[in-house]
Amino acid sequence: MPARRTLDPVGIGMTSRRTRERLIQRLIDAGIESPEVLRVLRELPRHLFVDEALASRAYEDSALPIGYGQTLSQPYTVARMTQALLELGTADTVLEIGTGSGFQTAVLAALVRRVYTVERVSELYECAKQRLEALEIRNVRYRHDDGAQGWRDYAPYSAILVTAAPRGIPRALAEQLAPGGVMVLPIGEGPQQSLVRLVRRGRGFRHEILEPASFVPLLAGVA
Ligand code: SAH
Repeated sequence: MPARRTLDPVGIGMTSRRTRERLIQRLIDAGIESPEVLRVLRELPRHLFVDEALASRAYEDSALPIGYGQTLSQPYTVARMTQALLELGTADTVLEIGTGSGFQTAVLAALVRRVYTVERVSELYECAKQRLEALEIRNVRYRHDDGAQGWRDYAPYSAILVTAAPRGIPRALAEQLAPGGVMVLPIGEGPQQSLVRLVRRGRGFRHEILEPASFVPLLAGVA
């Protein structure tokens, strides 16, 4: 069982209502339009996904460290990716690569029937699983593995979200996308990354570049 604090909605979660509203307004100003995405981001206690020492910064629109050289993405990025993933239709199952803190996982779990999430760092995998279970989020399956291979057991997926940047589109992931399915992922190295959306159409894929991106790299193997 995680510490009592993680189950306690009082404290920062309650006292920071104004700060939270400010964040939502910022997301709207930045072009996030989906009422569902905004609702979920308004309701989810982001401070429970970071170390206690960083909790007071949880409602700023910035990325925060989660250990192991990884970061919890900026709220704008989470919102933008989720909106891009779901705006073309209703997604039934989503495969997420890079569970990290589990925050993006929790956002997706509130919006689709089932989320399958893969993380390569065992401590992050364990921690995110415990955290989401403590929050009584039950429609998620977790896997500790190299997500570049996807998760064949439950493929195909109506949507795939990748939260770390590969150099190119991983073939295994593209293959696990259902017809009409949508994949959103950052591609490229260092400052040269782009957020890309891929839609499976017949035998091919249509892809569009959404905006510049800055993600940690997708790494090979497990840790
Ligand atoms: N969505 C996360 C963001 C985490 S940062 C959040 O909301 O907190 C990216 C994550 O991808 C890190 O946890 C990193 O360990 C993980 N990652 C990197 N390469 C991976 C791979 N090949 N397979 C699975 N996870 C990977």
